[in-house]
Amino acid sequence: MTRVALASLDYETNSFCPGIATLDDFAFAEGPELFEMGQGLDEIAGARDAALRHGIVLVPTTAAGGVSGPVVEGATYARLRSRFLDGLAAVRDSVEGVYLRLHGAMATDDEEDVEGDLLHATRALFGPDVPIAVSCDLHCHFTQRMSTATPLVVGYHTCPHVDLQETGARAIELLAASLSGRAHPVLRYRKIRMTASSEGHDTSTGPVREVMDRLHEMIDDPDVLDASVFLVQPWLDVAELGWATVVVADRRASLAQDLADELAAMLWDRRDAVLFRKTSLDDALARVRSSPPSARPFVLADGADSCSAGAAGDGVVLLDRLLREPIDGGCLLVVTDAAGAIACGQAGIGSRLTLDLGGSITPEHFRPTRITGTVTTLCDGRYRSSYPPGEADVGPTAVLSTDEGVHAIITTRRANQLDYELFLRVGLDPRRHKIVQVKSAGGYRAFFEPLAFECIDIATPGPADSRLPLLPFRRPVRPLHPFDAVVAEPFVAVTERASADPRGDGP
Ligand SMILES: [Zn+2]
Repeated sequence: MTRVALASLDYETNSFCPGIATLDDFAFAEGPELFEMGQGLDEIAGARDAALRHGIVLVPTTAAGGVSGPVVEGATYARLRSRFLDGLAAVRDSVEGVYLRLHGAMATDDEEDVEGDLLHATRALFGPDVPIAVSCDLHCHFTQRMSTATPLVVGYHTCPHVDLQETGARAIELLAASLSGRAHPVLRYRKIRMTASSEGHDTSTGPVREVMDRLHEMIDDPDVLDASVFLVQPWLDVAELGWATVVVADRRASLAQDLADELAAMLWDRRDAVLFRKTSLDDALARVRSSPPSARPFVLADGADSCSAGAAGDGVVLLDRLLREPIDGGCLLVVTDAAGAIACGQAGIGSRLTLDLGGSITPEHFRPTRITGTVTTLCDGRYRSSYPPGEADVGPTAVLSTDEGVHAIITTRRANQLDYELFLRVGLDPRRHKIVQVKSAGGYRAFFEPLAFECIDIATPGPADSRLPLLPFRRPVRPLHPFDAVVAEPFVAVTERASADPRGDGP
């Protein structure tokens, strides 16, 4: 059996979320725990299955993950980096390859390109001849520096992300081809001076779908080993912000570049179509009110406060509105408010109380709203998340219910709402309510669209506002669409030769 080292670092930065992430914001796993943390549904599970088919055994080292949140403290990254590299160093002499599962869009207060740094550090540790495969999220901030560390780079093909296992398997396919000498992978990429909010990234219905269809045609060519588009995490304030296309070909660098350029041109042609227009809260609520009672639930996506995009989840714009203008049929809303959860816990089930809820973490965007209700549920906030797959722990959680049927689910820590497991954990079935607020910027659709009467993305403010030019970006190199009306040179010149197989590169 061929032995391949496995390590994971999974974190997505939102530069507009206040505060700074420290070690407390990460969960850790070591050794065989890496195979358990994703409940057999993540990239590592897919990679493990693919590895078995190729006679490869994965040697798990360390994993750290924090999902999404603010920039990471530099000292924290230094610790994470040491742990990551120490774990790999411990197995270096007994492996022939490396597989890294990364998100791709982690930034610290002094490092904009964590994954570029980490890939080069891994390359330095293993030397030039050991193949290193890396799988990333579709929202990876793919950089020139990443491109020079290894040609074996793959990303999710879907948004919402439903191909985690397949992506891990693709990384192993590249690695196996490289290890066996069957192929000599070369990577070429093209960076595009454009960005767009996550709601415009949908690969199943939106403008990006046509690009993905073409990408899949490309992969059918036996000379093309893999291809990815990286629609960067939009709320990342970094110099190299922009979309990227990556093609990995067998020897034929010029083919890889031509195809990467073709995909880039297709994305650029859709630069306005991918700018998502949300529905005003007035229009959304008017649609709900004019619908028959049986039409439910209306899933109102409050993407600007999306916890899976790094926001804190303390927004109460919709809650405030529904408290003032009640709607029949019951409303489920979620707010991060540690003090509120504690107050409900101390009062106890059945107690009546008044709270000023929300706005405690992100006062730049949100002000508290006053709510009076009855504590109807208390729990520890632990549950099994379907997406991202794994154990979720949002801390002590309460439900405060008003007489008008507004149920505020108050969590201590931010809750990802890409699935509806949190609602079920507190005993509230989203299908039985008129309005379900989901704090997610597009990613919620995989789980919520099948049960919704209608999904409406509402225009609210927040750290993940889809109106990117409204946010205080300072670092991206300009011009950049949609920040600038004219982008004369949309495709960034590749200044340094991208990564080639260390054993040689054909024309
Ligand atoms: Zn993503």
